[in-house]
Amino acid sequence: MTLFPFDDRDGWIWLDGALVPWRDARLHVLSHGLHYASAVFEGERAYGGNIFRLRDHTERLINSGRILSFDIPWSADQIDAASNAVLAANGLTDGYVRPIAWRGSEQLAVSATGTSIHLAIGAWPWPSYFGTERMQGIRVGEAVWRRPPPDTAPVHAKASGLYMIGSLAKLKAEQEGYADALMLDWRGRVAETTGANIFFVIGGDLHTPDPDCFLNGITRRTVIALATRNQMKVIERAIDPAELPTATEVFLAGTAAEVTAVREIGAHRFTPGTITETLMRDYDRLVLQSPAEVVRVAG
Ligand code: PMP
Repeated sequence: MTLFPFDDRDGWIWLDGALVPWRDARLHVLSHGLHYASAVFEGERAYGGNIFRLRDHTERLINSGRILSFDIPWSADQIDAASNAVLAANGLTDGYVRPIAWRGSEQLAVSATGTSIHLAIGAWPWPSYFGTERMQGIRVGEAVWRRPPPDTAPVHAKASGLYMIGSLAKLKAEQEGYADALMLDWRGRVAETTGANIFFVIGGDLHTPDPDCFLNGITRRTVIALATRNQMKVIERAIDPAELPTATEVFLAGTAAEVTAVREIGAHRFTPGTITETLMRDYDRLVLQSPAEVVRVAG
């Protein structure tokens, strides 16, 4: 696989208020964010020139910062405008957008009260997270790492530190030949994969875990709205892994993953079917709509 390093590309990155040439968007190695994971980020996708649910992502970014006790020094309007500017500057209408905010280098002990808050936004083409297997179904392994309880980590923030767990789980899954890993929570209940929420079709209804210790994803909420519009019953509840054999279809929902079918979790097999296909098609159609239409359809 040819890798195109992320620090050596042509293009523009928005950094602390201005578009700078891609290779010049640097931070100092003695930055608080790097050492102590005092960083929050977003993952967004643009379709046909519109960043899907941009304001929801921007608000989650600002809120993630607040959960980590910092205020990003830009308003939601300014962040939205900067995100669109990055997309345009890089000549993209479709692609992935990645804002990240972090504590700077004024202090480098655990204490962080004197640090400045930085914000950078990058964008690049990223066709499909799971390639052509979106309807065919991906193979998912069982993670040994678990989602921590809400009194142990800021579980509702999209905080960089939490991705240490997902990164380790994904690494192991890929070493074992899987595309991703199913993560349980600290109670042993089904939580999510390393970068997406999960849905199960059980008895013809849609079941998905309560997001009480992981992100209530923007895609997850969109899929629930689309399913409800299709007269499907959606049940948010605690799901025990012992229930996996009762599921007839399984799929993931996330900005990067979009709607992706799952055909295997460990020893369990599933056949991607009409419910997955309907929601995947509806989602693919919705992302191409104007922001106003998206809000009208999916809230
Ligand atoms: N869980 C995790 C761990 C994620 O990284 C993501 C992607 N942000 C999601 C769930 C889905 O969130 P969203 O639909 O808002 O992208």
